[in-house]
Amino acid sequence: MALKSALQPRSKLPDVGTTIFSVIGQLSAQHNAINLSQGAPDFSCDPLLVAGVTRAMQQGHNQYASMTGYPPLRAALADKVETLYGQRYDAASEVLVTASASEGLFAAIAGLVHPGDEVIFFEPAFDSYAPMVRLQGATAIGLKLQAGDFSINWDELAATITPRTRMIIINTPHNPSSQVLSAADLDRLALMLRNTDIIVLSDEVYEHILFDGRRHHGMATHPELAARSVIVSSFGKTFHVTGWRVGYLLAPAALMEEVVKVHQFMMFAADTPMQVAFADYLQQPENYLGLGEFYQRKRDLLASLLQDSPFTLLPSAGSFFMLASFKDFSDETDAEMVKRLIVDYGVATIPLSAFYTDGTDNKLIRLSFAKDEATLKAGARALCQVKPR
Ligand code: GLN
Repeated sequence: MALKSALQPRSKLPDVGTTIFSVIGQLSAQHNAINLSQGAPDFSCDPLLVAGVTRAMQQGHNQYASMTGYPPLRAALADKVETLYGQRYDAASEVLVTASASEGLFAAIAGLVHPGDEVIFFEPAFDSYAPMVRLQGATAIGLKLQAGDFSINWDELAATITPRTRMIIINTPHNPSSQVLSAADLDRLALMLRNTDIIVLSDEVYEHILFDGRRHHGMATHPELAARSVIVSSFGKTFHVTGWRVGYLLAPAALMEEVVKVHQFMMFAADTPMQVAFADYLQQPENYLGLGEFYQRKRDLLASLLQDSPFTLLPSAGSFFMLASFKDFSDETDAEMVKRLIVDYGVATIPLSAFYTDGTDNKLIRLSFAKDEATLKAGARALCQVKPR
């Protein structure tokens, strides 16, 4: 029985409910549905990584890590980023290990955005961005990515920037559209921001998951943008350990200093044994460089299994998501469709409207293919049975 309280706090986020990932997760569990919804692998990580954490614990790495991160891990990250993207970050002042990419996003926004500032982001968007901005007393301005290919409308962005614009949130590879930015996109952004003091917060947690030979065009590949960016990365997405909650940030020291001030009082430090294990594991680049091919095989398997389904698949360029349209065979809202898929067909997906603050319904659902072959096959089999309505 719930505790009775006469207190009714004034909500800071009155229009925010439980995140879609938990809502669908619960409904999906109730109906024992095959889970193609949450972007979390249902297969094991490398046993060497588990052995590394176990060893770290046994060797006594069980107390607070250094506040900004286990130093050998920060050093390994600075080396990795320089090798892959060309930008050198100072391991002592420009790399911060966080307790998840989500913590990194929050610390960056809380440390750098002031009340009254404007923060521009692009929808569909991961559902945490706008609430994190609003908690700072700032205005979150969602611009819609363009229908069809989910590209940024640069002219609209230029027209939306004001003297109050403090930050622009970028996400590439993009969740949920699975589109990626190009080198030309980065040039365009850099030009637009030249002579402004706008910060780029760049969510790049899927940086190693790009398909069909594409390269990741993150902010660390572009010196001018790197100089005004906070980059957010994730160990969970890269190493199939989303439950370990470890991520990291990269930013010029002047920006990082303000972000660290928040991190030190929110988390102080990320979990120590995981950091020790990651520092070691990063020494073998093959542990993350094959990730694009690994997920491309899953993407292609799911797409081929869905050929006979009534859904129309949109191309997926990166991340472990794919969008599927039902506009040709049903007038249901995407939320109704997702519910019917769970209840009647036993397969869970995410409605795209959950990624829009205004609930835009494009008759699209998001499928996650971070799943083992058996799950993908079972999920596809269910989706192939869906009847028009
Ligand atoms: N990033 C993952 C997704 O989009 C998981 C999000 C979550 O469960 N909080 O599915």
